[in-house]
Amino acid sequence: MNFRESGSSTYRSLAQQRAVVSRQLDPQSLPRFAQACGTLDTVLADLTFSLDDQGRVLVKGRVVAEAELGCHRCEEMVPKQVDAALSALVAFSEEQADEWDSITPQTDVVVVTSPNLNVVELVEDELLLALPNRVCIDDECAHKPSMYYGVDGKELVNEAVAERDIEETRRFPFAGLKEAMNNDGEDKS
Ligand SMILES: [Zn+2]
Repeated sequence: MNFRESGSSTYRSLAQQRAVVSRQLDPQSLPRFAQACGTLDTVLADLTFSLDDQGRVLVKGRVVAEAELGCHRCEEMVPKQVDAALSALVAFSEEQADEWDSITPQTDVVVVTSPNLNVVELVEDELLLALPNRVCIDDECAHKPSMYYGVDGKELVNEAVAERDIEETRRFPFAGLKEAMNNDGEDKS
């Protein structure tokens, strides 16, 4: 069963019908997530509703956002897909959520403010949690500022100096020894 736009659907009726809800969300409807991203292009949510063995509303699904995230290192906007999996009980009050949480702490609970379906309410926190800590993986940071190269270069120079020092201290004692041996030989002959 595939539900399109049905603003008056309650979570409970969706769950009873084991409804599948596919929605493309307006980025402007997710202000917190949109702000966390630099640019938010599209958000697609695919959610399946069901009732668990205790008659509680269970939502499972996936939310995929196409966004551009700001890299803290290179300060460039990098296109990224934010992909969040969702599997949670739908609670209609904080008290209910706390109660379920104390009984089955391993189960995620999302608290909604209305009995009617609000996809944004279900998915926005999950999307925020799915944001990557680092936008660019080290090697992929294609837009590193010149400052960064400067620091890196300095470190390389220091390493080279340190290596040369080691090589010299390695070589000199032998050179000194060879000289001493030669002198010794000369003395004897
Ligand atoms: Zn970067």
